[in-house]
Amino acid sequence: MMRRDVGVILVAAGKSVRIGGTTPKVWLPFRGAPLLARSLLTLLELDELSECALVVRDEDRVRAGDLVDTVTPRLAARVRIVAGGALRRDSVRAGLLALSDPAIAIVLVHDAARPNASVRLFKSVVAAAREHGAAVPALPVVDTLRRRDDRGVAHSIDRSGVHAIQTPQGFQRDLLRRAHAEAVDVAAVTDDAMLVEALGTAVVWVAGEPANAKVTLPEDLETIARLAGGDRVATRIGLGHDLHRLEAGGTLRLGGIDVGGDVHAVGHSDGDVLLHAVTDAILGACALGDIGQHFSDQAAENRGRDSAEFLCHALLLARTRGFSPLQVDVVVRLERPKLAPFRAAMVARLAELLQLTAESVSIKAKTAESQDAIGAGRAVACEAVVQMVARES
Ligand code: MG
Repeated sequence: MMRRDVGVILVAAGKSVRIGGTTPKVWLPFRGAPLLARSLLTLLELDELSECALVVRDEDRVRAGDLVDTVTPRLAARVRIVAGGALRRDSVRAGLLALSDPAIAIVLVHDAARPNASVRLFKSVVAAAREHGAAVPALPVVDTLRRRDDRGVAHSIDRSGVHAIQTPQGFQRDLLRRAHAEAVDVAAVTDDAMLVEALGTAVVWVAGEPANAKVTLPEDLETIARLAGGDRVATRIGLGHDLHRLEAGGTLRLGGIDVGGDVHAVGHSDGDVLLHAVTDAILGACALGDIGQHFSDQAAENRGRDSAEFLCHALLLARTRGFSPLQVDVVVRLERPKLAPFRAAMVARLAELLQLTAESVSIKAKTAESQDAIGAGRAVACEAVVQMVARES
């Protein structure tokens, strides 16, 4: 039987100052999901995994939990979500403390900004750390290296023997604990292997992977997605439609927010036609039936229910089949209230639910020129088209 004695510290607490903007890079969309999701999906395949400490910024703990529940529900019971510190080594230390299983013998430290590390690489680092105490992936540098001095003069650097060090880095647990406890002069230390070497312990190298590059700049996302290479890409289109009757009073729920109007949609749940249409489009793209098959309008637990839950469930079903949304386009048909003042908030909410950027979410509103039930203000309808994509590594 496979020993489950590997703990993984997944470091995702960086503030991304180099990448610019306010969204930390691990939350930027990458191959249809937040960048962080790729490392979680890889851990699903690591049979030796006992426990994972997912280290995020304090304010990201809730959404990190949601991400684990959505993308890798099978891992949820084994993931500890912890707040990181100001420095990378503070984050690793927090992760070390969070690994609670006493059976853990080997600890891997992996940077979530390296989404392409293969499970094969994880396993080879584990095997080498088991045998030698400490192991890191190293990749020979093949580019010509030049350094410019203060006067702008370029000098050649001999690249023989020069390697780029990647993650995951693997250590016997006690060794890594000791390295962090005894770390003194840490100003120049950028990874855990350097801390371990400071103890006088040798760190062995395993072959790194060219595709295992680190996302540092926004433009890296596309390049690094391509580096994953060899993918078969499958695209699906889904179409959704919904219509609800309107009655006087209350507030209309649309796109996961309240848009007022002194009317409400008559329905078993919260009557949000926009989220119902998008949910149906997601289910349709994956040939998974329709919303009524998954959420009965006879069931008591669905009465008044927040339709965002239907959407998240459909997304989970799609993701377990490998499909993630790439874009969505929606047309709401409604006479009143006017939706223009709420459009940005609806786009933001739908983007959040779908884990897309606002640039990939389109919501349009049309009236019915006073014709039919919609034109008479007695109904609201919505059509949605989603594009879903799956990549098989
Ligand atoms: Mg409906």
